[in-house]
Amino acid sequence: MELPPYNLSKPSRAYRNHLISFSINCLHLTATRHDETRHQASRLALLRGRARRGERQISLPSSLSLSSSSGSRRLIRSKKEKEKEKEMEMLVIDHYIVGTFLASLLGVVLLYVLRRRNGDVRAKFPREDGDYVATSDASPCDSGNHDCPPENGFGAADVIIVGAGVAGAALAHTLGKDGRRVHVIERDLTEPDRIVGELLQPGGYLKLIELGLEDCVEEIDAQRVLGYAMFIDGKNTRLLYPLGKFHSDVAGRSFHNGRFIQRMRGKAATLPNVRLEQGTVTSLIEENGTIKGVHYKTKAGQELEAFAPLTIVCDGCFSNLRRSLCKPKVDVPSHFVGLALENCELPFANYGHVILANPSPILFYPISSTEVRCLVDVPGQKLPSIANGEMAKYLKSVVAPQIPPQLHDAFIAEIEKGNIRTMPNRSMPADPQPTPGALLLGDAFNMRHPITGGGMTVALSDIVILRDLLKPLHNLHDATALCRHLESFYTLRKPTASTINTLAGALYKVFCASPDEARKEMREACFDYLSLGEVFSNGPIALLSGLNPRPLSLVLNFFAVAIYGVGRLLLPVPSPKRLWIGARLILAASGIIFPIVRAEGVRQMFFPRTIPSFYRAPSSDN
Ligand SMILES: Cc1cc2nc3c(=O)[nH]c(=O)nc-3n(C[C@H](O)[C@H](O)[C@H](O)COP(=O)(O)OP(=O)(O)OC[C@H]3O[C@@H](n4cnc5c(N)ncnc54)[C@H](O)[C@@H]3O)c2cc1C
Repeated sequence: MELPPYNLSKPSRAYRNHLISFSINCLHLTATRHDETRHQASRLALLRGRARRGERQISLPSSLSLSSSSGSRRLIRSKKEKEKEKEMEMLVIDHYIVGTFLASLLGVVLLYVLRRRNGDVRAKFPREDGDYVATSDASPCDSGNHDCPPENGFGAADVIIVGAGVAGAALAHTLGKDGRRVHVIERDLTEPDRIVGELLQPGGYLKLIELGLEDCVEEIDAQRVLGYAMFIDGKNTRLLYPLGKFHSDVAGRSFHNGRFIQRMRGKAATLPNVRLEQGTVTSLIEENGTIKGVHYKTKAGQELEAFAPLTIVCDGCFSNLRRSLCKPKVDVPSHFVGLALENCELPFANYGHVILANPSPILFYPISSTEVRCLVDVPGQKLPSIANGEMAKYLKSVVAPQIPPQLHDAFIAEIEKGNIRTMPNRSMPADPQPTPGALLLGDAFNMRHPITGGGMTVALSDIVILRDLLKPLHNLHDATALCRHLESFYTLRKPTASTINTLAGALYKVFCASPDEARKEMREACFDYLSLGEVFSNGPIALLSGLNPRPLSLVLNFFAVAIYGVGRLLLPVPSPKRLWIGARLILAASGIIFPIVRAEGVRQMFFPRTIPSFYRAPSSDN
């Protein structure tokens, strides 16, 4: 009997049916053999009876001899032969009992194993308290079931992607292009309307090119961004991205986040092996420590399960699913309050604008040919209420006086319209718990303050690394081996991701106003240092733009600014007070950067080559 290929991750219904019928057949075969033996024995008895009655046409086993004399037949058996026959009958009966017993045992064991296997495939539902509760058995129509009719010609998935935001949509297209069957489950497939992910740094754009997705910033009225303009106390300076050695098309891009995502979703959906489904994933399905798939609710409210050897969770900054895959340590240092300004011109067209305001920075950048996004940072966990007008009051009285005059009227007009949006600014270092069958990506995995607009660049850079790691693997079904292989992902991504994360955290602190003299000096020194231009600004801007995200370069540039600040204090004539402020400035700079670096992981960030998983190369014969 031929069994269908066995899916290690989960036996399909077809496989179970085959296995059950296989064991039944085994039983049947054994029984048949014993039936034959029994039949033989009864034949023997019959023959003996016939022989005793002297019937004709009897053929007997060779062990028995038959002779006839004077018209009657007589069975001639020696005493020895009789004993032998008795022994044989005993043996036949023993075989029958033992064989039946063994066959039954085998059947019971097989059924037990299968029941256990199915019983263990339990969905985990998050409860209100954050714990998980077991639910129903696995769906029969899963990835391992080769008998299930393929849906829309799609068939079983190799990868399930939870969430089709920036990371999920880009990943779906990338893996789909590589020939994987991808099942994307996204809570809401309509165009998102958000204030996040609107400025893609040039480093992120380069990743977009690497993934073949650069056309997703076309036809969405995206604006080219060439650098930053910085403002402090009535002064301003312009900082160009160091794009000299790149193709003229390479620059930053700013746009409506929803339009960008729809373009990527649309592009992914054109691939026949990518299935985009609207549904909310409620939990991960886990069996013996391995993630087997997801439990989700469709748009129509149907509760379904989907199975695949690899589930990639990209459910964004508010992720409900990451708890079982990492140790989330989320910090919310501030919120962004967002307004879309209309009918106004930025002081510097095609530049991101950073106002080093009090208490914290304000950002402006174009998101279309007619709109400018304004993001006002409000420090702390609590925001002034929008409902009771406190927010409008705060924006008018505290923020409006600090913004460039060209933007003032449009800013006030937008507040009057009441179109005010808010988002928490979260940071969360990556701290994965490698889990067979699953992986986290995007904001669900790792977040940084959005002041530098680095989130999408990190997500896209991670996708490039993941794509390269998965490419040589033809079979994703060995969950443990895959998990071990993907451990290198966490190491390989570190230098780039940690540099962008650390810079974001450090710059946010430097850019915030502070009553502390040393911190004040540091903020001004930073502005003056960058204003020097050329080699002085190129290093930090290359880091910020994701064009040169190197940890060592980050630390060197950061302390170059701090030392510049100390030099500014001590020249031309140092005083004890200035010396003291200088010393505190260095201490403050260390106090800003080192805790962030420690949280990111010193060894992974600076010495990734000392980590064994760095060298875990994909094996092509997998
Ligand atoms: C205020 C703010 C401004 C920012 N500005 C920038 C910027 O200018 N540049 C930049 O590069 N980065 C920016 N970022 C960061 C950037 O937005 C994120 O890094 C990026 O969006 C991460 O992509 P993602 O796919 O992980 O998450 P998202 O893009 O948020 O996508 C998550 C998706 O998962 C879906 N989902 C969630 N739960 C479920 C579920 N249970 N089942 C199914 N689907 C689900 C959601 O509907 C969503 O579509 C900003 C962040 C903030 C907070």
